[in-house]
Amino acid sequence: MPKRVETVVLHDSSTPVLGDTQKGGSVVVTTVETLIGQARANSLWPVTFGLACCAIEMMSTAGSRFDIARFGSEAFRATPRQADVMIIAGRLSKKMAPVLRQIYDQMPEPKWVISMGACASSGGVYNNYAIVQGADQVVPVDVYVPGCPPSPDALIYGILKLQEKIKRGRAKTMTELRLVEFTPRTTQEVTA
Ligand code: SF4
Repeated sequence: MPKRVETVVLHDSSTPVLGDTQKGGSVVVTTVETLIGQARANSLWPVTFGLACCAIEMMSTAGSRFDIARFGSEAFRATPRQADVMIIAGRLSKKMAPVLRQIYDQMPEPKWVISMGACASSGGVYNNYAIVQGADQVVPVDVYVPGCPPSPDALIYGILKLQEKIKRGRAKTMTELRLVEFTPRTTQEVTA
């Protein structure tokens, strides 16, 4: 039996239609980077990574009372490959620092880091040989949340600040937006 083919013509090319305006819809004009910034900022997925007592407060943010889902960040991922924000919740020991760095390296670009609590940000009360005196010695930190421990509200405020930072980010090219891979060529490759 011959296959039946139907062609649906939406509009004549000589009478261009802009969006849904002919049906009474709305048109939004914006830039690609603004659109991508909004999408990225409102879907931050944290990697599941708790180090000490601060992690209990971090877990509370996902509960019904604080409900981090309101800001698009409820999906704590058990693999760094699916996460784009690392919340360092608790004191970072020198033994754990290489592990933290490895997990950070395994997260895809673009990625961000929130340092939660006094211990993660500065070593806190643990000024001793075993504790890293600031997680920014190991990974680049975007937002510091003070407190011992910071309340879930404080962490949510930190996430909102990170969202503002991401939305403010300006990128001019597709490479800067990290939509395409860019590997700089070596001098030998250029001159070959
Ligand atoms: S900042 Fe306070 S609550 Fe957080 S890990 Fe350090 S001692 Fe624990």
